Amino acid sequence: AVEVRGVRKSYGAQEVLRGVDLTVRSGEVVTVIGPSGSGKSTLLRVVNHLESLDAGTVHIDGELIGYRLRRNTLHALPDREVRRQRSRIGFVFQQFNLFPHLTVLDNVTLAPLAAQRRDRKEVEAEARVLLDRVGIGELADAYPRRLSGGQQQRVAIARALALRPRVILFDEPTSALDPELVGEVLDVIRDLAHGGTALVIVTHEIGFAREIADTVVFLDAGAIVEQGAPEAVLDHPRHPRTRAFLSRVR
Ligand code: ATP
Ligand code: MG
Repeated sequence: AVEVRGVRKSYGAQEVLRGVDLTVRSGEVVTVIGPSGSGKSTLLRVVNHLESLDAGTVHIDGELIGYRLRRNTLHALPDREVRRQRSRIGFVFQQFNLFPHLTVLDNVTLAPLAAQRRDRKEVEAEARVLLDRVGIGELADAYPRRLSGGQQQRVAIARALALRPRVILFDEPTSALDPELVGEVLDVIRDLAHGGTALVIVTHEIGFAREIADTVVFLDAGAIVEQGAPEAVLDHPRHPRTRAFLSRVR
């Protein structure tokens, strides 16, 4: 499980996360919606410790992320330890972020080989299975620039899965895609849901958020305004700010 408790984060004078509490159990799917600038990406980056915290904690499967507690104070972990923690957290970005000079297969195997120091044969065999699973097994030896956006994003998802992650964080995984390619990526994410890995998905696709989520979280101005089952938050929102947001995006 991912446990975010009392997380605060400021950039200069601007407080971007203002005391966020969120729990994502193993196998649970949480979708995060909210206006531009509300802190959705920052929240994901905090879970992955791509951002330091001003207050609060993040635990994954009971392990404190980014810090260690000594004499009642939090001390930053050494980079090596942070990299080890991050190597069990999948992150799928809007812009795919594949390595252009590596083949599809090498993109998928890089982190398990380098950060997890696993056996090459085993990692490559597993990577081929994962590429098949996301429907692009025949593209293992291609370079990213030859692939469509939808194919590139499916490589990015296979790369996240290759980490054997405890959680996968998706930051608007379909918003850089041409409309006709959105469906193939949503299909892949749909297949991962409820497979034991926690999924946190920031998305503007409200229909998809409703269909896939166990829990929908509405974030506004750095705070969770409302969270609950999709039918509750999306069909019967209690808070005026949730209602206003939903009426704008639908
Ligand atoms: P969007 O829907 O547009 O992706 P978001 O909800 O993901 O928005 P964030 O990217 O988390 O929002 O940003 C929240 C606020 O923090 C914004 O006002 C943004 O300008 C600011 N911000 C984000 N990253 C930084 C940074 N590295 N330095 C300064 N300000 C930042
Ligand atoms: Mg964002």
